[in-house]
Amino acid sequence: MTGFKKRSFFSQKICRFCADKVERILFYDVKTLKPLISERGKIVPSRISGNCSKHQRQLTTAIKRARNIALLPFSVEH
Ligand SMILES: [Zn+2]
Repeated sequence: MTGFKKRSFFSQKICRFCADKVERILFYDVKTLKPLISERGKIVPSRISGNCSKHQRQLTTAIKRARNIALLPFSVEH
């Protein structure tokens, strides 16, 4: 590690799910979930994604569920 930090995550401050008036994040909505998972298979933190805590929690649940039924990878194998 070189201590390099990305500082470009302030572009989006509004929760995208609130903006879209999403009441419930669906675990099988891979198209929605995919961009919120890092390339290493981790959930993107809300301070980066801009999601509010309510939707971030839903998102976490949805992603875990999606992993369980193998819609999304647990992590990327090298
Ligand atoms: Zn929200």
